[in-house]
Amino acid sequence: MKKDDCIFCKLANGDIPTNTIYEDDDFRVFLDAAPATKGHCLIVPKEHFDNLEQLDDETAAKVFPLARKMMKLLKEKLSWDGFNVMQNNGTVAGQTVFHFHTHLIPRYKDDGQDFNMKPSEPAEGELEAVLKEIVS
Ligand code: AMP
Ligand code: ZN
Repeated sequence: MKKDDCIFCKLANGDIPTNTIYEDDDFRVFLDAAPATKGHCLIVPKEHFDNLEQLDDETAAKVFPLARKMMKLLKEKLSWDGFNVMQNNGTVAGQTVFHFHTHLIPRYKDDGQDFNMKPSEPAEGELEAVLKEIVS
C-alpha cells in the first residue's frame, strides 16, 4: 500500500521522477539526492513500510540479494574500493525519511567519509548482564 503524504512512495512508484539505476516489480533503486560518495543510492520498496520493524519477511528477503546485485553493477561501473550497506530506523538512529530504505554507499580510498562506530570498553560483568537481559 502507498501512503499519501510519503515522498519515497511517490519516488519509488514513479509519481515523481528519480535518477533510477534499477527497477523491478517490488523496488526502485535511485541515486541519493545528497550523496555521501559517488554512486550513493537507495533501495526503496514500492510498498510503504515505516522501517525495518514493519517490513514484511517476503520483501525483507529480497533486499540483500538486490543489494548484492547493485554492488556488482556499481563495482563494474564505478570501481569502488569498499562498500557500506546502511539502514537507519528511528530518529535517534539517523532515520530522516520514514519509508524503509537501504543505503548503498560505494567507498573509495581517501573519500573523506567515516561511518565507523566508536568502540567502548565494557566494565567487568557488563556483557554478561546484557546477555542475561536479552536471553532470559
Ligand atoms: P535516512 O537518513 O536513512 O532516512 O536517509 C534518507 C536519505 O534520503 C538521505 O540520504 C537523503 O539525502 C535522501 N533523500 C531525501 N529526499 C530525497 C529525494 N527526493 N531524492 C533522493 N534522495 C533523497
Ligand atoms: Zn512511503
